[in-house]
Amino acid sequence: MVTVEYDSVKKQYGDTIAIEDVNLHVDDGEFTILLGPSGCGKTTTLRCLAGLTQPTSGTITLDDHDITDVHPKNRNIAMVFQNFALYPHMTVRENIGYPLKVADVNKEDKERRVEEVAEMLEIPELLDRDIANLSGGQQQRVALGRAIIRRPAVFLMDEPLANLDAKLKVSMRSRIKVLQREMDITTLYVTHDQEEAMSLGDKLVVMDDGNIQQIGSPDEVYHEPANIFVAGFIGSPSMNFVEVETDGDRIRAKRAPDAFDVELRPSVAERYRDYDEFTLGVRPQYFDVHTEPTDNAIEAEVEVTEPQGDEQIIDVHVGEDIELTIVAPSTVEASRGETVWLGIDEQLAHGFDPKSGDRIA
Ligand code: ATP
Repeated sequence: MVTVEYDSVKKQYGDTIAIEDVNLHVDDGEFTILLGPSGCGKTTTLRCLAGLTQPTSGTITLDDHDITDVHPKNRNIAMVFQNFALYPHMTVRENIGYPLKVADVNKEDKERRVEEVAEMLEIPELLDRDIANLSGGQQQRVALGRAIIRRPAVFLMDEPLANLDAKLKVSMRSRIKVLQREMDITTLYVTHDQEEAMSLGDKLVVMDDGNIQQIGSPDEVYHEPANIFVAGFIGSPSMNFVEVETDGDRIRAKRAPDAFDVELRPSVAERYRDYDEFTLGVRPQYFDVHTEPTDNAIEAEVEVTEPQGDEQIIDVHVGEDIELTIVAPSTVEASRGETVWLGIDEQLAHGFDPKSGDRIA
């Protein structure tokens, strides 16, 4: 059993607060992804667990042991970095076996483990090659091998796929997922790539500005975002946000009340009973696009269309000031300058508190 617990962890560098108040529980064997924009504090959160960064305050426990002040060497945590950090003058065999050599494991056992790990990563034929002659994907597997050979209690990965090309990224992604399941190691993985995060993790930790914004399954953060930040960060293209006023039955956009005027179903209106204004959030996929006037639809003018195979992305504007991005089937015929009518799937649309940004519905 290896569980990880961050309790009010903060790290400050001079005036910069890298992480403000991180509270996080990671279950045994869980694959947890830290996701967020550049500079939000993901790497700092990971480095505090590895012992490479000392928190300014707060505690980190591994199982029930407080490891906040334990030397990194004594934490039994392995980390894989974006740049692989391999030893260029050594062979693959020497690189993978290095942690066991340092730990004074006898030669026979070391060789056996190196062979096992190489089998697991499907690189036995590379064992006697020099690091410098390997492709990026091969180097990444060696880096993984070197990290797992000690059978660490916790496995940390910081953007391990960032330097690989798009195709290799996808195949390494599934390899990491399988490896993590097979080894059943508690894993924390940092990325700013939401597609990678959604496809890999059991649990997503969405961060912004030094704080955790939401912890949930990939489905939860997508369908039930905690606030405007998470709603806008997760999903591609990004969710549309429109400031609206409501009288209980209808919503009207503040910046185009005549054009953007939609009657709500009573069951939906009920959700906004306590509000006379809020921020409406609609994913690009949740509009119905009509090429003829339609009841309760918003009139919009097409700016740009971007074909994407079976789908297309359509940028429209409503009135002078409101711009929306829509994903529609490629069969919808809409070109620049034409008028379309947009129905909103109200059941799937979200509302956010105009002050706190928290989701209301
Ligand atoms: P990225 O995705 O760009 O790697 P990140 O989410 O991992 O970003 P961190 O590297 O944790 O973010 O950095 C969080 C904040 O702390 C940033 O503003 C960064 O500039 C600052 N920071 C991180 N390390 C240091 C340091 N050693 N000295 C000063 N400031 C630092």
